[in-house]
Amino acid sequence: MIKRIFLITSALLLLLSPSLVAAGDDIVVTASDVEVNFPSQAVFTLEAESYIDIVDVRLYYQVDKMNYVEVVSEGWADFTPASMIEANWVWDMRNASLPPGAEVTYWWMIEDADGNRFETSPEIMHFDDDRYLWQSLTSTVPQGGELTLFWYEGGDSFSQELMDACEEGLARLTQDIGTYPERPIKIYIYASTSDLQGAMIFPQEWSGGVAFTAFSTIAIGIPPSELDWGKRALLHELTHLVVHQATFSPYGQLPLWLDEGLAMYNEGELDPVLRSYLEEAISEDELISVRSLCSPFSAETEKALLSYAQSYSLVEYLLDNYGQDSMLDLLTILKQGSTYDEALIEVYGFDIDGLDALWRGTLASYTAIVVSRIPEQSEGTAWQSHPALIAVLAALATALALWIWRRSSGKSTI
Ligand SMILES: [Zn+2]
Repeated sequence: MIKRIFLITSALLLLLSPSLVAAGDDIVVTASDVEVNFPSQAVFTLEAESYIDIVDVRLYYQVDKMNYVEVVSEGWADFTPASMIEANWVWDMRNASLPPGAEVTYWWMIEDADGNRFETSPEIMHFDDDRYLWQSLTSTVPQGGELTLFWYEGGDSFSQELMDACEEGLARLTQDIGTYPERPIKIYIYASTSDLQGAMIFPQEWSGGVAFTAFSTIAIGIPPSELDWGKRALLHELTHLVVHQATFSPYGQLPLWLDEGLAMYNEGELDPVLRSYLEEAISEDELISVRSLCSPFSAETEKALLSYAQSYSLVEYLLDNYGQDSMLDLLTILKQGSTYDEALIEVYGFDIDGLDALWRGTLASYTAIVVSRIPEQSEGTAWQSHPALIAVLAALATALALWIWRRSSGKSTI
């Protein structure tokens, strides 16, 4: 925890510019440095001297991220008062959870026993993961946003394919929903899940990707051999980032089915295994209510998979029937702080329960198709039009991994 002692003076000092607080040459800074030990800490060091004892040394810092208010934090340096001092302050990242590439502006405030004060010029600390030799690829998206991809394993074609997938996904997002990146986005591609976990303070065993929405940063583990999976997973997180940028507000948030549904929809066609869960729930009348899907999904695997599949289907229903403009209106109204029911009524004329009923109505014909296939299957002729059982079983393991990953990464984006 950051030590805070002389809060009264610090508030005043923050209002003063460096030129105003520099008291002649009474206090001289002889060295200032920061050492990043990614991901656990950053150690700030300072050496200074005066004609009299230096009695107060503090570090002020500001994290560059989306915030509702400007926040300046304060750390109390460890040092022994003397006319020549060596001070340091250790930032324990268990209290911060900074992503790779985060930027932090910092400056020192020094005071001696005669009340002379000196403030150093602001400097920027880059919280880089220098355990790897990163390469980078930057692309400017049409609306003016910038996308930078960092990677260290896999050739240029690997990163280019991922970048192409991102660009196509962003273009689709703009076309379907009307949203586009408003802040530069950084994407760190780790070469494996275990490498990614090594970059996290509190790694979760099965975490395959993390979206740091406030930082517009994604960290994800994609082995070059799993490019297809990686493209979908990356696009999912990228969609979360862009949607969160567009809806960032202290007043409102998105219902989970909408947040996850947009990310799923922008990935492309619904995964066949998830589709089979949806079909089964429709035919057995076991769909989850839309109202339940507004809040965190069930921890049970099958229900969670169905929740994602339904979220996709709900977004598909809204876009197919009411179009892009209405979806953008919905996001805008939710951003302004309306309740989910109010926002839906204002844009579409129905509330959550109304959406539930209308959406289920469109699934009736879907159900009839699924049911009609049952006798065909018993005759052994339905496999041409329905996913083969073996393929479904084989894909189930993949879906489980996908769900686990989404569940972990979704937590950071909700
Ligand atoms: Zn998600």
